[in-house]
Amino acid sequence: MSFAKNLRCRECHREYALEARHVCDFCFGPVEVTYDYDAIRKSVSRDRIERGPASLWRYRDYLPCDPDAAIDIGAGFTPLIRAKNLGKALGLNHLYIKNDTVNPTWSFKDRVVAVAASRARELGYDKLACASTGNLANSVSAHAAAAGMEAVVFIPHDLELGKVLGSSIYGPTLVKVRGNYDAVNRLCAELAGSYNWAFVNVNVRPYYSEGSKTLGFEVAEQLGWRAPDHCVVPIASGSLFVKIRKGLQELWKTGLIDEPKTRMSGAQAAGCSPVATAWQEGSMNFRPQRPNTIAKSLAIGNPADGYYSLVQLKETGGACGSVTDDEIVAGMKLLAETEGIFAETAGGVTIASLKQLAEQGRIHPDELTVAFITGAGFKTVEAVAEALNPPLEIDATIESFEAAYGARLAQGVA
Ligand SMILES: *Cc1c(COP(=O)(O)O)cnc(C)c1O
Ligand SMILES: [Zn+2]
Repeated sequence: MSFAKNLRCRECHREYALEARHVCDFCFGPVEVTYDYDAIRKSVSRDRIERGPASLWRYRDYLPCDPDAAIDIGAGFTPLIRAKNLGKALGLNHLYIKNDTVNPTWSFKDRVVAVAASRARELGYDKLACASTGNLANSVSAHAAAAGMEAVVFIPHDLELGKVLGSSIYGPTLVKVRGNYDAVNRLCAELAGSYNWAFVNVNVRPYYSEGSKTLGFEVAEQLGWRAPDHCVVPIASGSLFVKIRKGLQELWKTGLIDEPKTRMSGAQAAGCSPVATAWQEGSMNFRPQRPNTIAKSLAIGNPADGYYSLVQLKETGGACGSVTDDEIVAGMKLLAETEGIFAETAGGVTIASLKQLAEQGRIHPDELTVAFITGAGFKTVEAVAEALNPPLEIDATIESFEAAYGARLAQGVA
């Protein structure tokens, strides 16, 4: 049982059944799941959610699949951490980190896949597929394994080893495509036309993207049922960025929080910054880019929700950071050294953008600000390997230790 009603075109508002479809037949606009909010309002309460499972399924009433038949490997309900040390370093007095590195496959993609895979199985699919920048491949492979479904996942050929092995271990058919993500995505859109498979981010994308709302729900619940003043969110396709706000608004529509006035700010790598560039130029039309950045999980040059991301930046008074590869590495180190969280490159993009926006005065020191850390650092060790202090290597004697330790102290970096 779900309170989802239908799929509706975001442009012309035509409605469709809850099937495997991602665009409108009439105007080719994207379709989105709608719900019976009156019925949800009657069913939900803060108390009912708080008594639910410690996973995203505590928000079952807001999701477009039958929660009792869900594929559940424990995605969601990750820690919200009061980041006092990082806040002090950046001059932000009320900073929080939403730590989504601790999901079952170590990225926020477990949220979207949990929902998409569950809905796909309900619709009768036995094969899960995706076009991925890495993390999605990991999560689709894991969920398919747990559900006894077959997985066929497509990735760009040049991904980090951790992301490749992090898929292979679950036994999918892993396909490296000689091309960038935008080429992979184009190929999958063509394949979805002729193979009867559930491509989680193509033909069942409307269900996939609903999974991202749960980050908005969780943050509001964890703050004691209130929306943050400001969110800083990494943007790849822009879906996560847009859906966190949808989550906050649904809590308001169903009576669980006051009307959110949250400013939504984005984070992109300078080497793939179609949204940030358009925002800086004051344009609502982004130009697709050819990505060149170490933040491979965000390397989408032609973002599906790029336009809606720009609309949201404008509507909420947000800003969009754009940071270099060196700043990304520095951001990863800063987060680790201040808060003890090892994030992948996308986390470096978020922290470096947070720093940039704070320095530019675009984030007010007294705003309750949440930065979303979406993937774990062991997936992208290559990015920081060269930038870290090498370990001391010694013989197993006190003298050898003291010589090496003394030399390190003398450098002032112990
Ligand atoms: C996929 C991904 C995002 C954002 O994805 P959207 O396509 O914008 O929804 C952010 N961080 C990480 C680590 C990701 O893998
Ligand atoms: Zn339409």
